Amino acid sequence: MSRTETYTALVLKTQNSGESNREAWFLTEEAGLLRATVFGGPKSKLRSHVSPHNSGKLWIYRDPVRNSRKVSDFDVQSWRPGIRELWERIMAASAIAETILSSQGGGGNWAEAFPSVCQSLDALDGSGEELSGRIFIHFLWNWLDILGLRPDLEHCVSCACEPDGDGVLWYDSIEGGVLCADCARGREGGSLLRLGPGAGKWLRAVAGIVPSELKRYSLDTVSRTEAKHLVTSLMSHALGRGFSSWENVS
Ligand SMILES: [Zn+2]
Repeated sequence: MSRTETYTALVLKTQNSGESNREAWFLTEEAGLLRATVFGGPKSKLRSHVSPHNSGKLWIYRDPVRNSRKVSDFDVQSWRPGIRELWERIMAASAIAETILSSQGGGGNWAEAFPSVCQSLDALDGSGEELSGRIFIHFLWNWLDILGLRPDLEHCVSCACEPDGDGVLWYDSIEGGVLCADCARGREGGSLLRLGPGAGKWLRAVAGIVPSELKRYSLDTVSRTEAKHLVTSLMSHALGRGFSSWENVS
């Protein structure tokens, strides 16, 4: 039986280990999250290829006796060098990687999760400061869908009406859905999160688009804060904790 396995993989994170080796965490299309050791010093070509945001074809040698994995080769197909050129892109990409690492790589839905993450990183590769933040909010909104946790914004969770798109919605964290203005009356504040018409329309509009189309879906400052607050609240509820990397994305 062959001990070398191949994957379609994206590097999420690397960390030095020992004198000259490195541990690498990948998201793979075939098996979700995978951790393996990269042998070789700082000048090794393999080591420079196994860097965060790179994706391509990965060869892993598995040692069944030691129960360890090592990277035997990595053929990079997408380098995304632009991500390292702008602080906002780096922050958004790090926050995306941390979210994936904390949610088992998409909870088993890897064939859908993998291309979706690659598309977010492709969009970040050339995005401006403001767009980088929108790409991150869209990523979290999409990731909630991949995890099966994205709430329905089209219907009130209490009376099942279809709220007017120009009105304010209230997300009720206890009910796990949005309330129309009538059902929310008298309960504003407390467990309810406000979603103004701008944020509500944007989240509905971008639910089915690919990240490269986000340029055409702008967000004003208030709507952006509300949309980000909703998606980060939902994700921290899902993962049992929030992350400081999310706060670094403006
Ligand atoms: Zn209602």
